[in-house]
Amino acid sequence: MKFNNYDLAKNLWGVDENNNTWENIYLVTDIEMIDVSYDRLNKILGYKDNYVIQGLQVLDEIKSNKLFEVLELYNYSLNEPVSIDDYKNTLSNLENADKLDTEYMARRRKEQSFLRNYLFGNDKYFECGICGEKFPIDMLITAHIKKRSYCSNDEKLDYKNIVMPMCKLGCDDLYEKGYIFVDGSGNISLNRDRPITQKISQYVDPIIGKRCKYYNEQSSKYFKANVDRHKIEV
Ligand SMILES: [Zn+2]
Repeated sequence: MKFNNYDLAKNLWGVDENNNTWENIYLVTDIEMIDVSYDRLNKILGYKDNYVIQGLQVLDEIKSNKLFEVLELYNYSLNEPVSIDDYKNTLSNLENADKLDTEYMARRRKEQSFLRNYLFGNDKYFECGICGEKFPIDMLITAHIKKRSYCSNDEKLDYKNIVMPMCKLGCDDLYEKGYIFVDGSGNISLNRDRPITQKISQYVDPIIGKRCKYYNEQSSKYFKANVDRHKIEV
């Protein structure tokens, strides 16, 4: 958030010889301190070896992406706003991109940001669409009900029906790997063809039979596609 406040600035930092203060203020949240050597930073950003970065510097998109990638800094809770047009544009350019390219990674992040904004808005906590438990949103992923790589572009654009939150504590993997599925009535069900250990059984027992609130007329075909992909007998 950015704002101007002369009185607050004066109170915090005083004034210079001309009675001016530093009234352009911005607020930041979720600060994470990281320790990166000049040497490493210079290499990543392509600066000269002996360059010493000073003060606050805002990096352009390309440099930022490089840093995000190499230092694994990206944090989806930052909620980068992405417009619907930007989302469409991002998706249409994704298919042809080189998957190891930093540009591709940046686009995938943009897609993720859009979907996360759509599902979570500004909420810090949200419920998993499978187990129904509440989680901090960094413990939830925006899962494609029909596996993303099997979706057509139109299906990916149907974001209101194709994605739902799933928790990293188990639901995401169990669904993705076909241990559990959502049946034709919208209830969470167990795939009996999968090997079930005691731990998995403990996890899934309270979930099986629950109604999935993301199941509806529009999304049912995507749940069905997932059932078909895993060749689950229902
Ligand atoms: Zn869950």
